[in-house]
Order: sequence, then C-alpha cells, then structure tokens
Amino acid sequence: MSPMSAIVAIDGPSGSGKSTTARGVARRLGYGYLDTGAMYRGVAVACLRDGVDHEDVERIAEMTRTVSLDISTVPDDQRLLVDGVDATLTIREPSVSAWVSAVSTNAASRAELVQRQRAIIAAGRYVVEGRDITTVVCPEAAVRVLLVADPVRRMARRGAELAGVLDEAALHDQVLRRDKDDSTLVNFTDAAPGVTVVDSTELTVDEVVETIVGLAHDAGLT
Ligand code: C5P
Repeated sequence: MSPMSAIVAIDGPSGSGKSTTARGVARRLGYGYLDTGAMYRGVAVACLRDGVDHEDVERIAEMTRTVSLDISTVPDDQRLLVDGVDATLTIREPSVSAWVSAVSTNAASRAELVQRQRAIIAAGRYVVEGRDITTVVCPEAAVRVLLVADPVRRMARRGAELAGVLDEAALHDQVLRRDKDDSTLVNFTDAAPGVTVVDSTELTVDEVVETIVGLAHDAGLT
C-alpha cells in the first residue's frame, strides 16, 4: 500500500455538510481528520490581526509562508493555534469567513498550504476535507468524494448554524458569494474522473457517513 492510499478525500462547497460528515467518517474508521479550510481561515486570522490589506497579494502570500499553524487532527478535539494563540473559535467568526477568499484565491498561498497539508497526512490514515483534496492535495486517495447539496438547503444549514448572527444578505454572502470566489482557482462543482458524487440534500448526516464508510470498505480501507 502506498503511504498516501489510506486517505479518504472529501470536497464540497460550504454548507454541504462536509465537516460533520468527515468527522463522522474519521470516528467510524478510527482515522485522523484534517480540516483544510481551518488552515485557510487561520491565515485569514493572522492577516486580520496584522491589518493586512485584502488586496495585497504579496503580503498575503508572505503571511501564508511565515505563519505558524498548529492544527489538531483528532476528530473530537478540533483545535487550531495561529502563531501559538488559540484561534479555534475565532476562525469561525463571520469577519474571518468574509476575509478568507483573499487567501484561497491567492495562488502562492494555495501552493504553500497544499504543501503543509501533504506533510501532515503523509504516511498516515486520514479523512481530509476541503475544496481541492480530490484533485490537488491527494488525487491518489483511496476514496474520493464530492459532497454536494441543493443551494437552498446549504443556505438553510448555514443559517441554522449561525442563527441570530447573520441576516439574509450576510448569509447569502457567506455561502453563495464565497462559493463563487472559492471557485476561481479550484473547481469543486464538477467531480473529476474517479470521484464519487454524494448528494446530501435528502440524506441525514448518518446516512452520508454510512455511504462514505461503505465506499471506504469497498476500497479495502479498514
Ligand atoms: O470549509 P471552510 O468553509 O471552513 O473553508 C474556508 C475557506 O477556505 C473556503 O471558503 C475556501 O475559500 C477555503 N478553502 C480552500 N481550499 C480548501 C479548503 C478551504 O480554498 N481545500
């Protein structure tokens, strides 16, 4: 078995249920879990902290290369330290969600984060979630899934998570505008060859987890 083969790669847009699903699959398989979106968010936190201009491509790239990101890969103990400071809750703030596309649309930042992600999962057993895992970070993963869901359902899910925090326009910005910006350098709306599309619109989280665990077993992962 090649060192990268015990990997379950899950891509999808925001609100597709990726994180909950990926953590559930990791728990079931006894694998580590890597939330790559948290790393993009961590860079955004550092940029916001230092007052980096949203359009300063060079500084954002430099920040990505120099920031320390210490991310937990334990499914039930998600933690992220940014330059040694706990940013586990900060990375979920709307201001960070609004800023993060400046990092994800920066080609140099992507190259740096992809390299760090590969280093974390090398020779391990992980469920990895993001936007470019099935295509760029780990195209050789044993299981590759694109998790999709109806946009109305995705907005409703994010709305439930952020109830009372965001109004309708802000929610639209968080889900649909972010998807559009996120798609500039990465295609996560069409499945690449060999990637299984799982539509979570009408499924419960448990059903989606069950489906992906089934794919993992079919691929010989235990
Ligand atoms: O998944 P989550 O919403 O936490 O991701 C935050 C942001 O990180 C996304 O909006 C996207 O801009 C970026 N991202 C990415 N590639 C990944 C994971 C996340 O561009 N593999």
